[in-house]
Amino acid sequence: MIFKLKCPCCNKKGCLKYHKSYDRHLTYYINNQLIDTTIGIATCVCTNCMNNNAKQKYHALLPDFILPFIMNSYYKIINII
Ligand SMILES: [Zn+2]
Repeated sequence: MIFKLKCPCCNKKGCLKYHKSYDRHLTYYINNQLIDTTIGIATCVCTNCMNNNAKQKYHALLPDFILPFIMNSYYKIINII
C-alpha cells in the first residue's frame, strides 16, 4: 500500500519506503469519555527526495483523525468547538 502513495514533497509515486515508527500521544472522546493514549505512527523515507538531497526526506503516515503537531484528535477539537 505504501507504494501507491505520492511523496508530499516531490509528488512522485512508488518512491516511499518504510523507515521506522514512533509513539505519539493522543487524546480523543468516545461516548463522552476522554481517552488519553499512545499510538504507533509509521514513517517513510522518499528515495527520490533522498537522491535529490531535498530538505524533507522523511514523512509520517498519519491517520485522517490526527492533525500534524497537535496532541488532540480531529474529533476532540470538533467536540470542543
Ligand atoms: Zn519525494
